Amino acid sequence: MHRRITGKLVIATHNPGKLAEMRELLAPHGVEAVSAGELGLGEPDETGDTFRANAAIKAIAAAKAAQLPAFADDSGLVVEALDGAPGILSARWAGPTRDFTAAMARIERLLQERGATTPAQRRAHFVSALCVAWPDDHLEEVEARADGTLVWPPRGNAGFGYDPAFLPDGHTRTFGEMTSIEKHGLPPLGLGLSHRARAFVKLAEICLDQR
Ligand code: IMP
Repeated sequence: MHRRITGKLVIATHNPGKLAEMRELLAPHGVEAVSAGELGLGEPDETGDTFRANAAIKAIAAAKAAQLPAFADDSGLVVEALDGAPGILSARWAGPTRDFTAAMARIERLLQERGATTPAQRRAHFVSALCVAWPDDHLEEVEARADGTLVWPPRGNAGFGYDPAFLPDGHTRTFGEMTSIEKHGLPPLGLGLSHRARAFVKLAEICLDQR
């Protein structure tokens, strides 16, 4: 049985951008989002070897510490020709200075070394795993992806991370050339394209009251 989220939900992130995005998404469903940062909760080590496991580690740690239901996500870019790299290491490939230009260049260098020059050889997808954990160990987990190809050079200054190198299927602009509303926003305002938007729709279907 799926469990509904009502009342307060801890957002297990210390990233202000993610918190703001979640607050916006949850407000219409009557859920009040409080951040792990506001509650002074620590950040557990992400020791899982899948997106799903890492989302669960973060959600469970926050739910236990706050004694409230807690939400966490984990995401990244999976490049097929690179056997799934950078995958769960997507943030780490940018190093301590969060240099995604260098991380995109590293991917490009590896693709060139493998002779991956055609769009079919440059397939990639973003993955978003979402988990809501309750203090009594109940879990709700969903995962979604956004498929596309990698372009070089990167295009556009909008977005973050690997957005400028990612061309979503069926579109002519990279995520870096799209507004946040187009990329993450749900219809009718946005295109609902991103992995996070798609995963959130799934979570809303099973866990949120529709208003
Ligand atoms: P985490 O989910 O905070 O662990 O970070 C995952 C990493 O994956 C981010 O730092 C980005 O590098 C990358 N990533 C996840 N989602 C996106 C996206 O929508 N656009 C660009 N990069 C992303």
